[in-house]
Amino acid sequence: MNTIDYIYRFDPKNPSAKPLPIDADHARRTLEDGNRMFSRWMESCRTGTTSEGEPRYVVACNGLEVGMQRLHGSMPRQTPFAVVVGCSDARVPTEMLFGQGFNDVFVIRVAGNVLGDVCMGSVDFALNALSDSVRLVVMLGHSGCGAVTGAVDAYLQPQKFWSRSLSPMLRSIIQRIFVAVREAANGLKEVWGPDARNMPGYREALIEAAVCINAAQAAFDLRQEVERNGKWEIDVLYAVHDIRNHQVCMPVYPGMQRKDENVRLAQAPTNPTEFRNLAQEMAQLLLPRS
Ligand SMILES: [Zn+2]
Repeated sequence: MNTIDYIYRFDPKNPSAKPLPIDADHARRTLEDGNRMFSRWMESCRTGTTSEGEPRYVVACNGLEVGMQRLHGSMPRQTPFAVVVGCSDARVPTEMLFGQGFNDVFVIRVAGNVLGDVCMGSVDFALNALSDSVRLVVMLGHSGCGAVTGAVDAYLQPQKFWSRSLSPMLRSIIQRIFVAVREAANGLKEVWGPDARNMPGYREALIEAAVCINAAQAAFDLRQEVERNGKWEIDVLYAVHDIRNHQVCMPVYPGMQRKDENVRLAQAPTNPTEFRNLAQEMAQLLLPRS
């Protein structure tokens, strides 16, 4: 089997191979295309099959990004086109999974992709100090999230939540995810029936649904923050990175195949009633097959 490369390329003959996206829609397509490439690369590595031509996946870097057109010793100007809030999980490397490189994305990573004051402060900084280049704000959850799993287990067994093994700081992360877990549990109860909790696969389904709803709720909060800043031209999107097949889409559930057309960043909810609809949609998708 051949080696399969994932390459960061600066081409001096074409120093502006990657111009800044002109608007929010262009920025969204840039991230989605990048994830299609990344998930294809991961699939090639896993299955040993390669796409046509040489087995290389290339991330273009432009001259400004690598610091061309500046004097020796001076700093490159920061020009990210997107702000991404994601989880600290090592299996979710933000720039890489969106096929981006140096100076492309302003990344905030915190366990469970929860939005505390400090995290929101970083978003505010990017919205105001980097407003010349930022076109998009993205909330990114991921399947198999340890923080969401912790919140689900604490919801199912409240005594665990109050045990001494959980530090107050860790408890504050889990507390922020509880709202999504409760919404997910309501959805499962409505669709699966009042006995949902005793059905096989309930805990796993609750985790899968809570991951998507947690991202949706945080995206809703992000949208309000963007609007508070009066940045109407900036889109707020959300999605979940499926660590089973490495694609970023919405919604995400087990058994989903990697397909280019599945890769999609969704518009952040504009109304809290959308969480209930999402919880019901997730409960349908996760219904145990008899
Ligand atoms: Zn996580």
